[in-house]
Amino acid sequence: MAATIIDGTRHARTVRQEVAAEAARLRAEHGVVPGLAVVLVGDDPASKVYVRMKRDACEEAGLRSFDHHLPGETTEAEILDRIAHLNRDPAVHGILVQLPLPPRINEPRTLGAVAAEKDVDGFHPLNVGLLLLGTPRFVPCTPLGVQHLLMQSGFDPAGQHVVIVGRSTVVGKPLMAILCQKAPGGNATVTLCHSQTPDLARFTRQADILIAAMGCPRSITAPMVREGAVVIDVGVSRVADSSSPKGSRLVGDVDFDGVAQKARAITPVPGGVGPMTIAMLLKNTLLAARYRHNLP
Ligand code: NAP
Repeated sequence: MAATIIDGTRHARTVRQEVAAEAARLRAEHGVVPGLAVVLVGDDPASKVYVRMKRDACEEAGLRSFDHHLPGETTEAEILDRIAHLNRDPAVHGILVQLPLPPRINEPRTLGAVAAEKDVDGFHPLNVGLLLLGTPRFVPCTPLGVQHLLMQSGFDPAGQHVVIVGRSTVVGKPLMAILCQKAPGGNATVTLCHSQTPDLARFTRQADILIAAMGCPRSITAPMVREGAVVIDVGVSRVADSSSPKGSRLVGDVDFDGVAQKARAITPVPGGVGPMTIAMLLKNTLLAARYRHNLP
């Protein structure tokens, strides 16, 4: 039986409409316009596309967006200066530093320089700690998007065995933290796998919900998936494809065609987790504006 396709684009649209309605209410009732500043260093083509998508999404939802595109040779001190300036700017409620940064820039130090109360990406050590303590303030956007997608599609992780492949600080680890939280949208039993997990398939085959976040194109194949599992593909890789006008296309970590024959439900790439990440960024920016102005 072919799997149900979990349509991230549709679910993200709903979230974006909710954010737009809430932003309009904040503006009308409190004179507050949530603002997001995005800091991009260098000219990585994929990062430029992501930044443009975030700006367009902000504008569409009635949020203000501030682009800070710095040249690739910008020093770490200059980047920290810019972040300090944004930390003080009252029109900026959320700050996002687009990753990856150039290799010579210290990433933890840069992310840690963003004021915790403007850290809409949820990467500041304080926000990471609050999440682990079970009192989250800002939750990283991709894990939050995955949780939202599961809940909105009727796949509550409570009581399920969730197997996550990938332990990055951006996706895998925070996802583990939110899905095992003693709270709605949590209460799963979570197994976290990584590149040092021996016999990965032994774990993935036990998953009620399997989440792939490795960055290894199409490496989760049908024999690695339990019949009837829900499969969420976070991975995004560009692979060569001579049949596409661009000569390449985006694929996930899951071998979609094979796994879709076995899974109960599956997210596509593109059009699955990606749109949810942006929708959650808007939601977090709204939350930051509410916190700042002490609005419930
Ligand atoms: P990352 O920092 O490179 O982490 C990859 C993780 O996968 C690591 O924990 C690594 O293990 C593990 N891994 C790699 N190869 C593996 C293998 N063969 N078997 C088992 N585990 C393996 O990547 P990331 O930032 O988490 O991103 C992961 C993927 O998600 C990428 O394709 C990225 O583009 C995509 N992504 C998508 C979104 C979105 O919005 N859709 C957002 C963020 C990321 P070790 O820790 O042992 O090295």
